[in-house]
Amino acid sequence: MNKNKLNIIKGDITKLAVDIIVNAANKSLLGGGGVDGAIHKAGGSEILDECIKIRNKQGGCKTGEAVITTGGKLKANYVIHTVGPVWNGGKNHEEELLSNCYRNSLTLAYEHGAKSIAFPCISTGIYRFPKELAAKIAIDEATKFLQRQEIINEVIFVCFDDETYNIYSILLNDA
Ligand code: ADP
Repeated sequence: MNKNKLNIIKGDITKLAVDIIVNAANKSLLGGGGVDGAIHKAGGSEILDECIKIRNKQGGCKTGEAVITTGGKLKANYVIHTVGPVWNGGKNHEEELLSNCYRNSLTLAYEHGAKSIAFPCISTGIYRFPKELAAKIAIDEATKFLQRQEIINEVIFVCFDDETYNIYSILLNDA
């Protein structure tokens, strides 16, 4: 029953008309490369202004945790910024920390009454987390979350390249 609430698309997360998009941010919350740079560029300075306020209040964001800001000029109402783990061989709690990113982002989205949320493939770019393992964790956490609430009814995994898209397609068909 939950399976049709999980969707995959190939493309640019900044273009999506969903309630919330998730950013693969870094601990500073000050923006960076990859999807982080694309979101700040498309969403405008309002997003960074709110990130700076959060940073001044709580000193950035820890790995695995998530904070929320306006969506600025994006179609999405909000951006959730979560900090994925840097892959460092797998023995440094990377899997648990990536699970926390998905769970904490979904919890924050739920608390803001979001019906739809889109995720990039957190940590699989500059942070080098193995793509298939990251996809398994993402699908697993989203599935578990969807089973225990009825507010969020669509979770979209946005795949930026064919390889990632194929990994998600296979995993979701097998699920
Ligand atoms: P991290 O530092 O968490 O690894 P990256 O931004 O380097 O974050 O990469 C995370 C994922 O986001 C990668 O799979 C990358 O291909 C993808 N990505 C980059 N730009 C975009 C975008 N505009 N929309 C969706 N995904 C993107």
